[in-house]
Amino acid sequence: MSKIQREPALYIDGRWVSGGGGDLEVENPATEEVTGLITQASAADVDAAVAAARAAFPAWAATPVAVRAAMLRRVHDVIAERADVFADTVHREQGSPPKVARGLHVDTPLAVIDKTIDALESFAFRSEIGNSLILRQPVGVVAAITPWNLPLHQVVVKVIPALAAGTTVVLKPAGLTPLTAFELARAFEAAGLPAGVFNLVTGSGRVVGDQLTRHPDVDQVSFTGSTKVGRQIAATAAGTLKRITLELGGKSASVVLADTDDELLAKAVKITVGNCYLNGGQTCTALARLIVPVEQVEQVERLAAEAAAKYAPGSRLGPLISAEQRKEVESFLDPSTGGTSTVTVLGGVDRVGGIELPERGHYVTPTVFSRVDPESQLATEEIFGPVLSILTAGSDDEAVALANNSIYGLSGAVWGADRDAAIAVAERLQTGQVDVNGGAFNPGAPFGGYKQSGVGREMGGYGIADVLEIKAVQR
Ligand code: NAD
Repeated sequence: MSKIQREPALYIDGRWVSGGGGDLEVENPATEEVTGLITQASAADVDAAVAAARAAFPAWAATPVAVRAAMLRRVHDVIAERADVFADTVHREQGSPPKVARGLHVDTPLAVIDKTIDALESFAFRSEIGNSLILRQPVGVVAAITPWNLPLHQVVVKVIPALAAGTTVVLKPAGLTPLTAFELARAFEAAGLPAGVFNLVTGSGRVVGDQLTRHPDVDQVSFTGSTKVGRQIAATAAGTLKRITLELGGKSASVVLADTDDELLAKAVKITVGNCYLNGGQTCTALARLIVPVEQVEQVERLAAEAAAKYAPGSRLGPLISAEQRKEVESFLDPSTGGTSTVTVLGGVDRVGGIELPERGHYVTPTVFSRVDPESQLATEEIFGPVLSILTAGSDDEAVALANNSIYGLSGAVWGADRDAAIAVAERLQTGQVDVNGGAFNPGAPFGGYKQSGVGREMGGYGIADVLEIKAVQR
């Protein structure tokens, strides 16, 4: 039996107060054991958290940038000192293997905090246009509503830029992974953040998330999660015309251009498989479609089978978050979801390759399908599990058209021997992020989606700008 983390209180106005919304168990998806017990917020708790954030806003907004930056530096250092606690908490509630938990779930958000502080220190809060003084001022109270896939990172990319900008925050983390948010609240407390500047409430999206979205004293909702809920939030927020930031789903494409040589092709397939399977396939940026020249499809299938077979469930490949999510992903494991020409290269419902699954935990077999029909369910819907679809293209132009054939536009990749030509293809992709020939993730670069992948941008200076109003003062 693993340890059970008990969190009987919420963090409101700088104090730990007992929540009035009943208890909620948190499951470890790798063991299916209870690993945490939290209290949920009542409607009165949510009102208290918003009131605390509202009351704290004027003083925090007026706090000099250098003081806010120093405070965030302390928060960074506290998280870094407690990195093992954060990694263990993510490991227990989200199921990530320990190494992944440390790198992806703790070191990456730490890098994001670092880059946000850099961006804050050079941010132009005042500028001039002719006789106008242009002021960029914090919007007020921001409600952050976050998903379960990256329990620290998804919170950090919202809350840290908001605090940097001078807004105050009420956070509602996902009900499946709330424990990491409690550790973060403790880090804010230890760093000495003034009371009310950051508040933590928990509970279901339907109740607590909805209340925050409707709340007349919340000025902006910053949401990360599914496109379905994003649409609901946009509709609800329209009632008060509050500002929204939406970071939603994706079905991103990795495009291999015709001039790609064997060495680069091997790298493209290996990195695409790794990216698609990252975090058990549960990342919004997953490169879930690999689009390759039709002449190279057999070679790509061999390379993909080899690369994917290295993701042993239980060691390199973590579990899915819940039994419900596993059921959802399993519904995509039948090759017929990809149309009649689809072949199973690895995994799938037939368990091609015979990869073993641990006895306990919400694991699914790593899967690669090929020759997938671009209009099929498999090629068009977000799966949020370790399932890669290989599609073929007769030309580079067709590959671009296939990549853009999606309601989503979050991420993407392009591979080609001629780097400038590959960058020119990146310019044609309707998506917020593109990595050319394996270009590394940049924690200071803007992040967000085209089309139904979202509204607004997070991270770096763009993340700060996202929660600022703009005022023109004529002199
Ligand atoms: P979800 O949409 O079910 O829930 C996200 C959050 O919204 C949770 O905190 C939930 O409690 C809350 N919520 C649910 N209904 C609500 C409502 N009616 N009003 C207000 N809040 C509500 O998403 P999930 O299942 O937790 O996460 C997976 C999804 O998130 C995937 O679709 C994935 O692509 C997306 N995602 C996007 C990004 C990005 O940055 N674009 C990052 C990670 C995940």
